[in-house]
Amino acid sequence: MSAGAGILAIDQGTTSTRAMVFDDMGRVQAQAQRELPQIYPKDGWVEHDPEEIWRATLAVCSTAMEQVGAKSIAAIGITNQRETTVIWDRETGAPIYNAIVWQDRRTADFCRAIRERDLEPEIMARTGLVVDPYFSASKISWVLDNVPGARAGANAGRLAFGTIDSYLLWRLSGGTVHATDATNAARTQLFDIHAQDWDDTLLDIFQVPRAILPQVRDCASEFATCDPALLGRAIPITGVAGDQHAALIGQACLRPGMVKSTYGTGCFTMLNTGVKAVPSDNRLLTTVAYRLNGEVTYALEGSIFIAGAAIQWLRDGLGLIDQSPQSEDHARAIADTDGVYLVPAFTGLGAPYWDADARGAIVGLSRDSGVSHIIRAALEAVCFQTRDLFQAKAADGVALNTVRVDGGMAVNDWLMQFLADVLDLQVERPAMTETTVLGAANLAALGAGVYSSLDEIAAHWQSDRVFKPAMETDERDRLYAGWQKAVERVRV
Ligand code: ADP
Repeated sequence: MSAGAGILAIDQGTTSTRAMVFDDMGRVQAQAQRELPQIYPKDGWVEHDPEEIWRATLAVCSTAMEQVGAKSIAAIGITNQRETTVIWDRETGAPIYNAIVWQDRRTADFCRAIRERDLEPEIMARTGLVVDPYFSASKISWVLDNVPGARAGANAGRLAFGTIDSYLLWRLSGGTVHATDATNAARTQLFDIHAQDWDDTLLDIFQVPRAILPQVRDCASEFATCDPALLGRAIPITGVAGDQHAALIGQACLRPGMVKSTYGTGCFTMLNTGVKAVPSDNRLLTTVAYRLNGEVTYALEGSIFIAGAAIQWLRDGLGLIDQSPQSEDHARAIADTDGVYLVPAFTGLGAPYWDADARGAIVGLSRDSGVSHIIRAALEAVCFQTRDLFQAKAADGVALNTVRVDGGMAVNDWLMQFLADVLDLQVERPAMTETTVLGAANLAALGAGVYSSLDEIAAHWQSDRVFKPAMETDERDRLYAGWQKAVERVRV
């Protein structure tokens, strides 16, 4: 590694905290990771201990830096679990409550009341988001209403709110910088994604005082300088983005029409829509892809609840396989599913159906159906659901041209080929699949001047394999029509 051009990227995720050091070619030089304990105080509540997050962050950064030597680090980048909410005292730096995690549903009634006041269209128009406990706004309000003295403290300017990026910036800067980036701000539900500012109407609806909010910056900029007492040197922090946004950058999906699709437990897709914020008629989310030099690039986001989780169910629930990769052998062992479809609506159907009461089904079974047919149908369902989602994005008026995949399921070659066939689009898998943490490193490199432009990020992206569509149109249409019929049968 050339001296002083290394980038330390922090990925503070829902289940773990990681640090990786990259060289200026985007190659991994060192890494460290620590699991993050989950706290479930009540049914539907999920919390993290912010002090544990901070300790873990320092520990993984120190370990990774020891492997390469502190002197080789030019800058730090941060990516994080989005929406998770921390409120702390500006004087002492101490959090006044645990971090409320994005999955937490405690504010469901609060959000329902807002929807019943018919405020959702206005909120969606400004934020691009549906009204849901998922986002930070209702969580902030909950803390202010439930921690004694918090609302008065917030109004008096004594308290600070931040998503995890903001909380880490505060701690890393020794309590001198209260800032976030535009992608994390966009997920609070308090930020007008068009005006690029906190919005008084939203603050009023969610009863959040402006005094507790961080300053919003570009994703690549001089956020702060790390307190030298923490990591041994005063290193600049120059890149920040929420995890899905960082993955989009790590995948170099930097032109309109490019989409990154992450296949893990669920599937998270983000489509670059360029300078245009595209409102969705299909309840997809409009969000900030990234903001650089004051210029906003927007994205359409959509997710599939059950992707790899269906394979986990075949393994752990039904015992049809011992390990997930065996699903590929089963899929290859037969020519087709012979009309069998598995609709994994275990927790309802998401975009574009939005049917929370629907439940899963296996349809089209015959005497000849076997274990392989069911397993292959589970894999095929991931691809059909992706097509559902992409068609919804296309219906919102954006043409998709490139699909880049990552996540645990992307190693399944059969699945990726079937995906290309069902989408009738080329599917590209990168050599470096840790796209989230790479994206944070890319932003930091840009902010520190190690990279001069986005073109350098695009130039460093390396393909592992490209899957080209090879299915006849008739066959593709026939299979997808069968999927749509199967979905109809589970809708309530
Ligand atoms: P997460 O980040 O959501 O925990 P990962 O990205 O680690 O998930 O991916 C794990 C998921 O991918 C699991 O649901 C697992 O069943 C699935 N998976 C892993 N390998 C394969 C494979 N070869 N074929 C199909 N599914 C797989």
